[in-house]
Amino acid sequence: MVLQTYQLWYKILFMKRNLHIFIVLLNLIIFIPLFSCAVNPVSGEREFMLVSEEQEVAIGKEAAPSLKWEFGGPYEDRALEAYLDKIVRDLWKNSERPHLPVKFYIQNTSLPNAFALPGYVAITRGLLSEMENEAQFAAVMGHEIGHVMARHTAKRISRMQMQQLGVAIGAAALEGKKGGDTLLAIGSMGSSLLLLKYDRDQEIQSDRLGVKYMSSLGYDPHEAISAHKVLEESVDNYVKRLGKSRSEDSFISGLLSTHPRAEVRLSEIQEMIDKLPAYSLKKDGKFARTFHSETRKLNEINKIYHIYDKAEQDYREKKYEEAEKGLQEAIKLNSSQAPFHNLHGFIKLQQKKYDEADKAFGKALSISQSYQPSIYGRGLVYLYRENYDKAVVEFKKSLAEFPGHAQTHFGLGKSYYHMNQYKEAISYLANFAQAVPEHPEIHGMLGICLEKTNDTAQAVMAYKNQLLVAPDTELGQHAKARLAALEPAPVTK
Ligand SMILES: [Zn+2]
Repeated sequence: MVLQTYQLWYKILFMKRNLHIFIVLLNLIIFIPLFSCAVNPVSGEREFMLVSEEQEVAIGKEAAPSLKWEFGGPYEDRALEAYLDKIVRDLWKNSERPHLPVKFYIQNTSLPNAFALPGYVAITRGLLSEMENEAQFAAVMGHEIGHVMARHTAKRISRMQMQQLGVAIGAAALEGKKGGDTLLAIGSMGSSLLLLKYDRDQEIQSDRLGVKYMSSLGYDPHEAISAHKVLEESVDNYVKRLGKSRSEDSFISGLLSTHPRAEVRLSEIQEMIDKLPAYSLKKDGKFARTFHSETRKLNEINKIYHIYDKAEQDYREKKYEEAEKGLQEAIKLNSSQAPFHNLHGFIKLQQKKYDEADKAFGKALSISQSYQPSIYGRGLVYLYRENYDKAVVEFKKSLAEFPGHAQTHFGLGKSYYHMNQYKEAISYLANFAQAVPEHPEIHGMLGICLEKTNDTAQAVMAYKNQLLVAPDTELGQHAKARLAALEPAPVTK
């Protein structure tokens, strides 16, 4: 199936879920010289590099809000965050580019992961709860910081820019088929593409940097080895709890393909430790007791999230009653977690119990004022009640928090569509069409808006896309009829 894309602009930005990072990248493309080189701050060698340090920081800043929500939003525990933030800052100060900005986040998801961009260093609740001591935490964060300092992300962006330049130049010639597939391949990655798929050499380099940063702070570098084992185990536990296999979950298999198997790396890390200049340990170099007391509350709450995770899985499988039962149990154990009430709201939304849904979203927002999923949920309540003005207000708030949230773009576009504000609807619907091109309604709706604003050529394209995705729906039938009217069959002699 080959969908037509709407404008060259969108051809370049054919993105899933996260649109605005690519807008930043595109801006960069316009201003970069074709070939440039820079000295790597870690290796001291010259390398191909299109991104300046200022741009690196700008990309980190642009990516931060969407990244935050793609990984569950913030886990709110000020004291814990302050304790860990201090460790991260100490590691950062020990790095090659201590002048770069940095802020530490705990991401509220059970998915075990950690990542860093300039200005953004994060670990998920799931991984943090499995860490055994401060030194292991420092090892994981040191490794991620290593990726930033050695400019691995910047290198990937440079490569992507070259690909996109190629795409932009070739787009006119490629026309549809081949071009569409290529673009889809680029676009099927989210903003996580800024984080994933470091190559093997880069992983080893980051291991080495992580070990260096942590040992110079007095942590026992051997804990880098146990941190690797913990990461592996936590992935196993996560997958097992959800009753999946490693290869079944595409995100997990992606995560694992980018984190080479432990056995291979452990001996390499041991070698790095053996070659380290003499280091002295601060106390026992582990700080297990401090770490345990600081993370005790998180570990307790994390166990309740296991119940929530199961409920969320039931919800995704449309087992709403089971999901609600699990959720009630989780809320009974801890009623102060916004995600619990939020999921409750979405269950009620599915059951068309809008009053209860609204109440549940309100509860989540009373706990966490800017909890984006519930702001979006409120927008949906208004949309389903056909209160479009209010829906627009909520959806705009949702986008302010999470600019790359495709579903909110759809909600906004749909609201404007129902208000007959076709011009306003178009850009939001087009954004969603690029992010979720297989959606059964989007192209037909977009076609109507384009036709209403006299953009016949684009409308024809949208109707054709609708016929490719869902020809038999009401919108599909409409698209067929409009195509016949707009593009009469050529007269044969
Ligand atoms: Zn890595």
